[in-house]
Amino acid sequence: MTHSETLFEQAQKYIPGGVNSPVRAFRGVGGTPVFFKHAEGAYLFDEDDRRYVDFIGSWGPMILGHSDPRIKAALHTQVDLGVGYGAPTAIETEMAKKVCELVPSIELVRMVNSGTEATMSAIRLARGYTGRDKIVKFEGCYHGHVDSLLVKAGSGALTLGVPNSPGIPASLAEHTLTLTFNDIDEVRKTFAEMGDQIAAIIVEPVAGNMNCIPPVLGFLEGLREVCDEHGSVLIFDEVMTGFRVSLGGAQGFYGITPDLTALGKVIGGGLPVGAFGGKREIMEHISPLGPVYQAGTLSGNPLAMTAGLTTLNAISEPGFHDRLTEKTNRIRDGFKAAADEAGIPLAVQSAGAMFGFFFTDETSITRFDQVMACDIERFKAFFQGMLKEGVYLAPSAFEAGFTTAALSDDDIEFTLAAARKVMKTL
Ligand code: PMP
Repeated sequence: MTHSETLFEQAQKYIPGGVNSPVRAFRGVGGTPVFFKHAEGAYLFDEDDRRYVDFIGSWGPMILGHSDPRIKAALHTQVDLGVGYGAPTAIETEMAKKVCELVPSIELVRMVNSGTEATMSAIRLARGYTGRDKIVKFEGCYHGHVDSLLVKAGSGALTLGVPNSPGIPASLAEHTLTLTFNDIDEVRKTFAEMGDQIAAIIVEPVAGNMNCIPPVLGFLEGLREVCDEHGSVLIFDEVMTGFRVSLGGAQGFYGITPDLTALGKVIGGGLPVGAFGGKREIMEHISPLGPVYQAGTLSGNPLAMTAGLTTLNAISEPGFHDRLTEKTNRIRDGFKAAADEAGIPLAVQSAGAMFGFFFTDETSITRFDQVMACDIERFKAFFQGMLKEGVYLAPSAFEAGFTTAALSDDDIEFTLAAARKVMKTL
C-alpha cells in the first residue's frame, strides 16, 4: 500500500469521503487521491516522495508557483507582527487600492474569505440594489456552493453528478434561470419576457468549470447590452479568470465592463481570500454604508492580505502574463500535437493562463452539450497515465488546467514527452 492509500483510508473514517472538497476524492477519474507533503516551484511532492509537475496550482491561486520566496518572507514578517486583529489595518487599503488599479471597473471592493462568499454577496447586493429576485446563470458554470447558484452547476457538482444539489428549497431555486453559455439569442428572448424581474446575470467570462470554454464573439458584449437595456446588474465571476486570463482579468482581455466582479484564488496567493467589488453607486448599498448586510470575522485577515498583495505585486511585473500565456500555449499545442501523432481526436483551447483539452472529433467546443458528449473514459485513462508519469492534471474532465510562472522549459518538455507517451496508449 502507498502512503496515500493508507492516509486516504484513515481520512475516510473522520472526513466525509476523506476530503474537504469533493473533486479531490478522484471520483471523476477513479483510484486513490494523492496526498501531498510539500510543494516547491512547479512541483508537488507526495507522501511517497514522488514528484509531479503541477497543473492545478491549488486550483488557481499559485500563479507564481509553490512556496514563492517573496510570499514566504512576507508571511514570516506578518506572523511575527500578529496573525489577525479583527480591526482595520493599513494593508487592507493597500490591497483594495491595488485591486481597483488592476481592475478599473472596481471602484469599491470588499474582502471576503472565499470565492463562494464573493459570488453569494454579489448576488445579494444585486438583489438588494435592484429590488428584484430573479437571477440568470449559465448551465455548466460554477460559482461556488451558493444556494441560488447550485442550479445546473459545473465543477465538482457536475463531476459528481449532482448539478442540482438537494437541500436547496425549490422556492429559492425557482428564482434562478439557467440559460445556455454562449447563446445570446436565448438571453435576449428571456429578458424580453421577464427582464423587469431579473436582478442580475452572473457569468464566468471564460467558463472554467466545464473544462475551458472562451466566450464566442458577441456573447459578453450582448450580456452587457441586455443588462443596460433592462436595468439588471452584470456580474462577472472572475474567481478563476481574475489576474489569470490577463492582469486585468477576462474583462481586461475582452474589453467588457461588468457592474460587479467576484474575485478569489490568485487574490489570496494561496490563503483563503475572495473579494467582490464594482461600481461605486452599487457598492454603496453594502453595510455599513447601505442596508445590504455582509460581514466576516476573518475578512481582510492580515496574513491573507499579505500573501495576496505580494502575489498581485509580483504578477504586475511587465511581461508576466505574456510569458505565462506563452507557456500555456506550448502546453495546449503540445497536447494537440501528441494526440495527432497518436491518431487520437482532441480539441484544445485556452485563454491566457488557463487551458482545456477535450477528447472529441469536434474542432472547437463552445457549448455545454458538446462538453457532455466528449469521451470521458478516454480522459480518465489519459489522466491516470499522466499521473503515473509524474504530471498532476485536474482530476476531472470538467475543470480547466492552470499554468504557473515556475514552469521551466524542461518542465514543459517533460510534460509533453509524457503526453506523447500516454496518448499512444489510449
Ligand atoms: N467561482 C468560480 C468561477 C470558481 O471557479 C470557484 C471555485 N473553483 C468559485 C466561484 C468558488 O470559490 P471557492 O471554492 O473559493 O468558494
